[in-house]
Amino acid sequence: MTEIIQDPLSLTIDDDASVVVLTGAGISAESGLSTFRDSDGLWEKHRVEDVATPEGFRHDPELVWRFYSSRRKNARTCQPNDGHKALVDLERRLKSKNGSFLLVTQNIDGLHQRAGSENVIPIHGGLMETRCSNIRCEDSRTAVYDDKVYDDELPKCEKCSHLLRPNVVWFGEMLDVAQQREAIWAVRKCDWFLAIGTSGTVYPVAGYVQDARAAGARTVLANLKAADNLHAFHSFIPGRATDVLPKLVATTG
Ligand SMILES: [Zn+2]
Repeated sequence: MTEIIQDPLSLTIDDDASVVVLTGAGISAESGLSTFRDSDGLWEKHRVEDVATPEGFRHDPELVWRFYSSRRKNARTCQPNDGHKALVDLERRLKSKNGSFLLVTQNIDGLHQRAGSENVIPIHGGLMETRCSNIRCEDSRTAVYDDKVYDDELPKCEKCSHLLRPNVVWFGEMLDVAQQREAIWAVRKCDWFLAIGTSGTVYPVAGYVQDARAAGARTVLANLKAADNLHAFHSFIPGRATDVLPKLVATTG
């Protein structure tokens, strides 16, 4: 049975704990960012296959770049919220003692990094990054910071002249193996596993909770509503990340 916790202050994360946090679109939505499942979101105007797959990019790169350009514009207008900031506070508290902290985010918007989180694995890539689309080119493996919008002329690789693409993991693409390995290694030795604002439907990360729990971690979901894999968690804190997280990290061991 998953315990429902109404008061996050009742949980205490010790200063020397090792903590892995997994975040999803819910925490960004509270900064006003359009999310994948929003009915009024950017995605509604486009089919996922057209704008977020390698096939879509091959078929109509102008459309894909217009889509990511508008997402870049949208993300630039958003600011990190109290949920993002609470995770920065938690990281600093743990690191200043003998704890450890790893944030695995499914969000590509960079809000965690802008808030000041340091140990972050952006497993779905970065919206404000660009790399070469030619897998035979060495620049396909090195992303560079790029917050420009491309409504007109598309960017090309200086080395091989293929089109550049957003450095995001599209549907049907593999996650980065090294990032996956690092995340799972941390998940399997953490004391606390916190999933924030994620519906728990996208594998493999939706399975992290089982790994963490099997390794003896306390597993907590904080989300507006119950996720599909709710049963896998010890505890569920219903609510907004901006309300729940400042209380959850305010507790001292
Ligand atoms: Zn290239």
